[in-house]
Amino acid sequence: MWALVTGATSGIGAEFTKLLARENYDIILVARDESRLRKSAEELEKEFKIKTEIIVADLSVENEIVKVEQRLLTADSSLAVGVLINNAGYGLKGRFINHTSAAEVDLLNVLVTAVLRLTHAALSNMRNAKSGYIINVGSVAGWLSGSTYSAAKAWVNVFSEHLNADLAKDGITVTSLAPGFTHTEFHQRGGMKMGAVPEFFWEKAPEVVKAGWEGALRGDAIVISGKQYRAVVFLARHLPQKLMRKIQTHRMFT
Ligand code: NAP
Repeated sequence: MWALVTGATSGIGAEFTKLLARENYDIILVARDESRLRKSAEELEKEFKIKTEIIVADLSVENEIVKVEQRLLTADSSLAVGVLINNAGYGLKGRFINHTSAAEVDLLNVLVTAVLRLTHAALSNMRNAKSGYIINVGSVAGWLSGSTYSAAKAWVNVFSEHLNADLAKDGITVTSLAPGFTHTEFHQRGGMKMGAVPEFFWEKAPEVVKAGWEGALRGDAIVISGKQYRAVVFLARHLPQKLMRKIQTHRMFT
């Protein structure tokens, strides 16, 4: 059985490829950097004796999303994808007003448009098979008011919750996995300085991925991987929204 992971070359996505390879899935790796994709695929084949494919695609570009959709829509049942991990993502440092609208649209394409389109494409074969798992990597930021990134992750939560309830009768599980700060390349790539964040708030990618996969197997709609972040989300849901907005637009967070 095949699993497809977007953003498979680093951080949370790379950990998903290892977990799924250990579970004996053959893996399709998607990202932009072709040489890194090839290296990751070779390592997985060697270590886990599985098959791999790579798809080089920039998911901010609508025409490139098509390449991944086509693979998910395969009519060959031996190549059907039973697990889709919509993981690729990044953040933009600084204020919305200081970014170009094109940069914000690119971000929305990766975090929302690609997730929607790849989920839709994957469901076709999953519905025929009456089984399948889709994990959309959201974020604790989805419960906070932090510009396009948070808004996109809030969309991931609501979208996944709806599909989780709606597709259970088709044998398909959709889960939003919401990590908090996790040690990956994410912050370095975004030029974000994170030195002030205490170690207590940091999660480890293998643990995030394990929690997400176990939650999906249980049929959970939402998995908040860290205990500390379950408390953060509880507060975000119960503190007065006016106070939350004040905290979240504080200079430290923008
Ligand atoms: P990461 O280590 O930077 O990995 C990001 C992956 O996404 C890379 O494989 C990257 O490969 C790929 N990617 C980035 N832009 C892409 C694009 N336009 N098209 C296709 N692939 C693209 O970051 P990560 O922390 O593992 O992030 C994974 C997910 O976790 C994201 O959705 C992120 O929002 C979420 N998350 C992260 C944290 C955190 O603190 N790290 C917290 C909450 C949620 P290429 O550069 O080769 O394309």
